[in-house]
Amino acid sequence: MHLPPGVWIAALAAALSAVPASVMLVSSARRRAGRRRHAHHLLAAGSAITALTAVAGLVVSLSMTAPGGRDTARLIALGMVLGAGTLLGGMLMLPGAADTGATALQHLLDGLAIAGAIWFLGWVLVTAPTRVLGDRTPVPCWLLLLPLGVGVLAFGLTTMVSVRMPRPRAGSVGVGAGITAAALAGAGVSGGVCQQWAGVVLVSALALPAGLTVIAVAARATDREPDPAEVDTTRRGAGFVFLPMVLLTGAAGYQIARTGSIGAVGALSGGLVLVALVGRQYLALRDVRRGAERLREREAHFRGLAHTDPLTGLANRRGMLRVLHQEAFSGVRGPCVLLGIDMDGFKSVNDLRGHDVGDQVLLEVGGRLRMNLRPGDAVARLGGDEFAVLMWAGEDEAERAAYRLLDALAAPYEQGGGVVFLSASIGLAPAGSAADVETLMRNADLALRYAKVKGKSRVERYEPGYDHLLRRRTTLEHELRGAIERDELRVVFQPVVALPSVRPVGAEALLRWTHPELGVVGPDEFIPAAEESELIAKLGRWVLDRACRQLAGWLAEGYDVWVSVNVSPRELHSPDYVGQVAEVLRTHGVPPQRLVLEVTEHAVATDLDELCHRLRELRDTGVRVALDDFGAGYSSLGQLRDLPVDILKIDRKLVAASEPLVDVVVRLGHRLGLEVLAEGISTPAHRAVVEESGCRFGQGFLFGGGVPAEHLEAQLRAAASPLRVPASASGGRLAISAGQIAPAAIPGPDGEGSSG
Ligand code: C2E
Ligand code: CA
Ligand code: CA
Repeated sequence: MHLPPGVWIAALAAALSAVPASVMLVSSARRRAGRRRHAHHLLAAGSAITALTAVAGLVVSLSMTAPGGRDTARLIALGMVLGAGTLLGGMLMLPGAADTGATALQHLLDGLAIAGAIWFLGWVLVTAPTRVLGDRTPVPCWLLLLPLGVGVLAFGLTTMVSVRMPRPRAGSVGVGAGITAAALAGAGVSGGVCQQWAGVVLVSALALPAGLTVIAVAARATDREPDPAEVDTTRRGAGFVFLPMVLLTGAAGYQIARTGSIGAVGALSGGLVLVALVGRQYLALRDVRRGAERLREREAHFRGLAHTDPLTGLANRRGMLRVLHQEAFSGVRGPCVLLGIDMDGFKSVNDLRGHDVGDQVLLEVGGRLRMNLRPGDAVARLGGDEFAVLMWAGEDEAERAAYRLLDALAAPYEQGGGVVFLSASIGLAPAGSAADVETLMRNADLALRYAKVKGKSRVERYEPGYDHLLRRRTTLEHELRGAIERDELRVVFQPVVALPSVRPVGAEALLRWTHPELGVVGPDEFIPAAEESELIAKLGRWVLDRACRQLAGWLAEGYDVWVSVNVSPRELHSPDYVGQVAEVLRTHGVPPQRLVLEVTEHAVATDLDELCHRLRELRDTGVRVALDDFGAGYSSLGQLRDLPVDILKIDRKLVAASEPLVDVVVRLGHRLGLEVLAEGISTPAHRAVVEESGCRFGQGFLFGGGVPAEHLEAQLRAAASPLRVPASASGGRLAISAGQIAPAAIPGPDGEGSSG
């Protein structure tokens, strides 16, 4: 049966209308780049092949005396298979459809499984035994089955890609639907030509441009779909594999029930589906293995991170605990010692210079620790400015190494904005001192805290008694908190005398604490506790207030004195300290030059620039500044030149130890224009040394210790009145002759006279 020529011409016209869609795709490909460009090229090529095959096939058919026929149909079929295959390739190239070749293959195998099952179902329905088309069942023609097969495959593949693509995916799904339609239309054209079914040819020739147009329009829409992020392939659903199996089993069961055997096509389809499913399961398994491998790597990475300090790259507390658990008590590597290390005064680096500088210093500390260890030793940053080192050595060797570390850590830290001076304290605990890791950590920490309490910048070995000492420290901190409110504090005044006259010219305010249960607690014990617990600001303000109130009283009574008050570095660092001092002076009506603030030499070690800045601010208010404990070992003579101070207080250790040194310091101080005061003069021999050096002021038990204000006032009164000179000049108590009374002894900023 030949097709009527009108239908042929209509079909040809329809096929021709597919050409613009191909042109549209070609032109759009030019505007794209990378993977998208390749995808558009393939889609354009596929649609051109499909459209031209249809047109050419129909022209050939028309040119023949009897249009249609098997040979023409075979050519059309080949062209359609080629076109549809190219289109499918284009779809898989779209971003997000299949990011790797393996994924594309997996989609293809999945699509093949679905297609195989549908194909067999169709076969069972169309051919024997069912023959749903009855008499119109087509003559089997193997080559013609190919485009149909590709059409079904396009359906399967589109389904898989659509299900698995990340959203938004409407454009890609549209492309897939268009390809499916075009491939099935192509199969329709070739089949219709072969069977000479005019209606099928016409419908297919109409469907073809529709499909290609859908592809062209949808391909444009894919531009709005983002490039996919990496997809976890192990999370792709695999439940769908049951669908083709169910279809296949159903169709096969039906076939066997009807004919008694599955038949060649059934066996082939079943085999195909199985191969496809096994292949995709193999790929899926490979993905899972790779995923698991990646997970293992990631886990190892994170486990490493969990034991590493991110700032210094050293082990962290957990890392150190792990080493201790694994090795310290195993007994395999011999004796070991745990060192707890803490940077003294590190908090002020953070407070004054900012956290960035603080971090840089910590990084440097970590580097120095690493550089100074022996191979095999472990170092960790436990947190903040606290470090730990596990040394495989005996106690004595570890202690020597600890001192080396102390030196290494005390070297200046050159940081962008200047130099930072820091010291470290180290506590040492041998593994033998503890029964388990936790106790060992605690013992090293106790030794470290003891080193801090004993004055910092030192190494201490763990002793069982530390527990008790540190408990006392905690009690002190706790009790000190309410000491002012409970009225347990007193300020006493130690006279400062002019030399050689021994006339009292001033007094140092010293804090005293008497606790109802603990008894008298010395300032050497409670001041460090207060400094560590930040209580010092409150105590310092209280002392300053009491001292100024007393000074105002003495000045009102006509005594020509000044009073000095000790200031902790902590207090100085507080930005409103200068304002507080000025306010206290105002409150009590005390002229600023009558107040001396004593700054311990320790403060110099922390941050010289900042210290100078604060001291200058203080001096600008008129207050005078003394550098306390000079010669105790923190500041150098060189630094002295830069420090804005008025008075140098020579440390009592220096006075007791070395005559030539006192001489040098006094002379240097005078050359720098400073007033020099010698502390701790407790014997006539000390006094002789000090007087010999030309030092004009002295302080010490020889002239009197810290006494209540009334007692000092009595001394002042006695000195002011020739009739009331105390009994003994040689006995060491204030021995002042009438002729030595002179106005303000230490020159103030206004250049008052000095004693001599
Ligand atoms: P410092 O500033 O060096 O005070 C002098 C210390 O030496 C006082 O001890 C004093 O009693 C003692 N001393 C005086 N003359 C002699 C002597 O001839 N020989 C000997 N061996 N010692 C003598 P104190 O009162 O126990 O004070 C100890 C430290 O406590 C002070 O040392 C000072 O740094 C600190 N301190 C005392 N009161 C305060 C305070 O109100 N604020 C602050 N921040 N620190 C304070
Ligand atoms: Ca002092
Ligand atoms: Ca002192």
